[in-house]
Amino acid sequence: MEQENAVRRFRDAIRIKTDWPRGAGEGDREAEAPLRRFQDFLAESYPSFHRATERRVLSPYSVLYRWPGIGPGTEAPVLVLAHYDVVPVEKEKWTCDPFGAELKDGFVYGRGTQDMKGILVALLEAAEELARRGFRPRRDIWFAFGGDEERTGITGAMRSAGWFREKGLRFSWVLDEGSSVVLNQIPGVEKPLALFSIEEKGFLSLELSAAQKPGHASKPPRVQAAAVLARALLRLSRRPFPCRLISTVESFYSRLSLLASGVPALTMGHPRLLGPLFFSLFATGPQAEAMFRTTLAMTQLAGSSADNVMPSEVRAVINLRLLRPRTVDGAIEFVKRAIGDERVSVKIYGMGNDPVPPNPEHTRLSGPGWKEMESAVNRVFPDAEVLPFIMTATTDSRHYRDLAGGIFRFSPFKLSPADSGGVHGHDERLSLDNFFRAISFYTALFESL
Ligand SMILES: [Zn+2]
Repeated sequence: MEQENAVRRFRDAIRIKTDWPRGAGEGDREAEAPLRRFQDFLAESYPSFHRATERRVLSPYSVLYRWPGIGPGTEAPVLVLAHYDVVPVEKEKWTCDPFGAELKDGFVYGRGTQDMKGILVALLEAAEELARRGFRPRRDIWFAFGGDEERTGITGAMRSAGWFREKGLRFSWVLDEGSSVVLNQIPGVEKPLALFSIEEKGFLSLELSAAQKPGHASKPPRVQAAAVLARALLRLSRRPFPCRLISTVESFYSRLSLLASGVPALTMGHPRLLGPLFFSLFATGPQAEAMFRTTLAMTQLAGSSADNVMPSEVRAVINLRLLRPRTVDGAIEFVKRAIGDERVSVKIYGMGNDPVPPNPEHTRLSGPGWKEMESAVNRVFPDAEVLPFIMTATTDSRHYRDLAGGIFRFSPFKLSPADSGGVHGHDERLSLDNFFRAISFYTALFESL
């Protein structure tokens, strides 16, 4: 019965359409209404949790909770993050209603089931039940839920972080969504791997443009802006950022080598000895390469709006994910040098941010929160091996980098490669098994705090 109610609340959460309408701006009441409704939904659905905590709504994009600890107050608080906005859908490509929360073959289908209402609801189910039983944590647990993570986090997480900064609050560690328990993703490794992403790559979009005199397409100049820009893009694709072994990835492979056998075990365990050979052995696909270098994706390309008009400017946008120690400034320098053509202008597009390095103790499988996180995993995923990992996408947690002794980006789901396909894609779904596992994970975790 309790499980049934939890599933009902999960499905209700999916049905609140918190995707952001294209082109809407902050303060747009119609666009913000579902975000407010979601905040109300939490208050209505989790009464014991709301009685046990102090709630502060900063805006439709941000709601904070403090679950006061009963301990002597010597332990720094812990912060748990989640977001309730979701990415838009291409409705015609779904086989079901993306906001219908259909229950089929043991899965709930819908936008946000994995990313990340499934997590947000699971952690509140856990907290609600504990609060109902009168449980109180030793130390303060804070929660910060954001409503614009899928855009920038500027209005949600960034302002929440500012609020904590203003109050002089610091956290022992922070937990946000991230990598999960993965199955069969590395050849030769049979055990499920619980991946704690302890660091996060940086983010940077650049706009490249080349200008020319506009005019009639019947009288084109000999050197055209599109060709100049194309040459720049070609040069970038021929000169990738160099591979580099950072401490988190080195630790990941050396732990992994203990689980593998034969040649892979030997090679994984000695990346420094192998030097460049290591990268040619393991940088075999986009996923692995993203761990070894700053990546560059060419995402947008535009010229004239008519087929018979010369454009005054052609532009391309490239999106980079920065691997430590490459910074925003360093990456811009690298791109300019690789292009080597002053006719191409290179400008920051939107907001960039540097990589978020790990707490070095976390690369050694210790440090703030490691024990608590690991024992919660052991209780729920007893056959899984915990490994440090790197988040190649961005999360809200980057806005809290200066407020925490360490950050874990972990989603307590057990996923095969096929299971993760729907995140930001079509037919996103979460199995009820995973939903219940997540509740157990947060129950174990909160009990230990
Ligand atoms: Zn997310």
